[in-house]
Amino acid sequence: MNELLTNIGKPTSIWLDTTPETDYPELAADLEVDIAIVGGGIAGLLTAYYLQKSSHKVAILEADRIVKGTTGFTTAKITSGHGLKYQTLVKKLGQGKAQIYALANQQAVEGWAALVEELKIDCDFVRQPAYSYAAGKDWTDIVKKEVEAAKSLGLPVGFVERAPVSFKNYGAIKYENQAQFHPRKFLLALSKIMIDRGGLIFENSAVGEVLENQKRLVTKNGSIKAKKIIIATNYPIFDPADIFKELKAHQSYTLGVTIGGKMAEGMFIGFEEKNFHSFRSQAWRKGKEILLVGGEAVLDDDLLSTDEHYARLAKWAREHFDIKSIEYHWTTSDSETPDEVPVIGRLIPESDDFFVVTGFVGWGMTHSWVAAQILNSEILGRPHPWSRLYSAERIKKHD
Ligand SMILES: Cc1cc2nc3c(=O)[nH]c(=O)nc-3n(C[C@H](O)[C@H](O)[C@H](O)COP(=O)(O)OP(=O)(O)OC[C@H]3O[C@@H](n4cnc5c(N)ncnc54)[C@H](O)[C@@H]3O)c2cc1C
Repeated sequence: MNELLTNIGKPTSIWLDTTPETDYPELAADLEVDIAIVGGGIAGLLTAYYLQKSSHKVAILEADRIVKGTTGFTTAKITSGHGLKYQTLVKKLGQGKAQIYALANQQAVEGWAALVEELKIDCDFVRQPAYSYAAGKDWTDIVKKEVEAAKSLGLPVGFVERAPVSFKNYGAIKYENQAQFHPRKFLLALSKIMIDRGGLIFENSAVGEVLENQKRLVTKNGSIKAKKIIIATNYPIFDPADIFKELKAHQSYTLGVTIGGKMAEGMFIGFEEKNFHSFRSQAWRKGKEILLVGGEAVLDDDLLSTDEHYARLAKWAREHFDIKSIEYHWTTSDSETPDEVPVIGRLIPESDDFFVVTGFVGWGMTHSWVAAQILNSEILGRPHPWSRLYSAERIKKHD
């Protein structure tokens, strides 16, 4: 074994390790509901919650257990600061669409805060600034351009000469008043609320077949017929529009570590050539905190093994923090679209009955909230002002 890989903790996420397993039943009958959602990750559950609030009878079908897919292995920063994306979005999509993206995600930060407050869910929700910093000198100009782009779109940002961390860096964009939380604490509590209000959740109920004409989802031991169907499986499992072909997997690695000294206040992502590193603190056991350190994005020309990626991440973490122990290590991937904008909306252009959510490109916390608003509105028959930006149709037009 690579010597850097000794003592790297449990091969699971802090979220799964600190919450109970769920045990919702398997679907074993033929049912009818208003809305059936395939996928019990953050996108499926949050969308289900809002649709149920709009008086729909909603059922979720999950292949495994809920919140154990990508959402179970996220780093759960709730922020409109998506790396250094806005300058590219302005260039590629124009000011108007980039602004919709920016303000929808900023609204999502406030939407999450309001929801946590309204439902009184204890989920370690904490307001934090978010920083994207230049890890090398040659990134300072890019960071400054990002500040200009993000400011022009109306986001709460400014340039700081140095991100407030113990090691050297070359300037950062600071997003004020963003947030972080424990996604499983929130979503497991949300699922209980949905059940109490008459919702249905089925686990170990993989949808193997979608009968389009009947609007029926078929699992091994049952089926659900619904007026509307939403595919929220991260990578679509029913895909008449061939969206899957356009998606890439966006994979990276995370370590959960304890460190000496004080944790930096904020959520951070640092950029350097062909790599990034992200970190933020998380409340853990008995008043202790864990630092989540992420990075090692897997690129197309990547020839490194999983162990080598963990070893490189552990090396970077040890060089930048006073690591006392590594408690967790995990890796997962998110779906990515060619234009780095998610797909949220009608799955089949001519049908009002099938919807899809996919392609969060590593930013699914705010975008799941955005998805829930768009889908709730469209299913109620009200066009949403954000729909066009996220439409599935535009994905096919992208070169
Ligand atoms: C390392 C990493 C760190 C990240 N950090 C952040 C962050 O800090 N902030 C942020 O905003 N975003 C972050 N993201 C992105 C975010 O975690 C994802 O965008 C989000 O969790 C995706 O949620 P989802 O519901 O679409 O997918 P998932 O959570 O994967 O849920 C999809 C569900 O569908 C189920 N499913 C699949 N097939 C079937 C079937 N046939 N029948 C029934 N069910 C099925 C799966 O079992 C799964 O439970 C990160 C991503 C990665 C990879």
